[in-house]
Amino acid sequence: MIRPRFVLITLLLILACNASRREISDDLSTPEASVRSYWGFLVSRDVGIAIENDDLRYITDASAQGLKQVRVEALERLKAHHYMLDNRIVSAELNTNVSATVLAVELRYRGETKPDTYKYYLTKNDGKWLIDDRLYPCPLCDGKGQVRDFSSYRTGSELTTKECEHCKGTGWRSYIHAGKS
Ligand SMILES: [Zn+2]
Repeated sequence: MIRPRFVLITLLLILACNASRREISDDLSTPEASVRSYWGFLVSRDVGIAIENDDLRYITDASAQGLKQVRVEALERLKAHHYMLDNRIVSAELNTNVSATVLAVELRYRGETKPDTYKYYLTKNDGKWLIDDRLYPCPLCDGKGQVRDFSSYRTGSELTTKECEHCKGTGWRSYIHAGKS
């Protein structure tokens, strides 16, 4: 026989565990909110220090509490200084009722000083806005889609430009569909 009190305690424990794990607010109700939620996830993933690690098995309970506290504080410090916290959304436009484009300014890595413009394509499915693609400016042509054509030197004519092969002239590269764009 299952005791009601046992069921209640188990239920409360499950809820408490989920609440502490779910630090990221997953709001997918608008294209803008979805991109922000995605950033939040990336920050949390980057600073993923395991608070409850297996090493605690070898440590006394009293000392394990102290160690966990040190880890929690380290985690908060890392989160508070993550380079993605300066990301901002420039524009969010609906193309149709179910497709949207979001432009954002982001740093690509820790220590980078000049932010880049990123482009997100999103699709609405079952009430949720999900990311189809995340694009960054092509590093080879600097987002212009054209590169200098040095072969024109040989003919003695003026230096012309040609389509950038890296991005097929679009000026963008895809994070998600890398190799295809
Ligand atoms: Zn290019």
